[in-house]
Amino acid sequence: MKKEYFAIIKFPMFVGLSLLAILLIFFLMVLGSYHHLGLSGWGNFFYTLIFILIIILIASWILTLISTHCKIKSTWLRKYISWMLVRVYYPLAIWISIPFFQKRASIQESFLYFNNEIIVTNYQGIHFSNLLLLLPHCLQNSNCKIRISSDIVDCQECGGCDIAKMKSITRDNHIKAAVASGGSLARKLVNDTKPDMIIAVACHRDLTEGVRDSWRYPVYSVLNERPKGPCFETTVSYSVIDFAIKKFI
Ligand code: SF4
Repeated sequence: MKKEYFAIIKFPMFVGLSLLAILLIFFLMVLGSYHHLGLSGWGNFFYTLIFILIIILIASWILTLISTHCKIKSTWLRKYISWMLVRVYYPLAIWISIPFFQKRASIQESFLYFNNEIIVTNYQGIHFSNLLLLLPHCLQNSNCKIRISSDIVDCQECGGCDIAKMKSITRDNHIKAAVASGGSLARKLVNDTKPDMIIAVACHRDLTEGVRDSWRYPVYSVLNERPKGPCFETTVSYSVIDFAIKKFI
């Protein structure tokens, strides 16, 4: 339980730590300059500008933390939070985790949990009509004779892999599903479909890339299971997908 809790709070903890480190570096720089030369007009301007940027960075992070528990009504503010999360706070968390010898995968998983919290708080109960379930190609049984490209309608539902379960769940809930064999195809599928909401299944690395690439869209992430190793005949829990779909339709 303790381990799971740490896995969840890891990402916000490292972002907080990175902001503290930035603040500390800034004050050391100001003190250093002041003691050696005093602050010139340009020095004053430069440090004031940096200080304002740091304040914006901290205030935006507080807003991001709030958005995990309180719904943000403004659409542009939700987009701003999403952009800051993927473009600023994620790289900061990765940067500060390096001296702590943290595995990138664990930060990515924590980032995905954190992003899911924001998505559920801000989008749950909206009843999206254009929901896309994005699945990884490695979910398909490697011996299957049917070529499942982007659409899963061709699956014969023999039960040889979890594609059958996903086909039935999308049929029951009248939602679209697509299979992507890589990041560029996933991007193309999202751009072609323009969904209101995406439920994406993949490994931590692909999901993180996907969430970062599609920051304009709300993406709820579901980690696949890899009983036979990465990228080969992976599985996904029916109940987890069902639970996720029910939240948004
Ligand atoms: S469930 Fe569908 S995709 Fe999977 S092995 Fe059977 S026919 Fe192929």
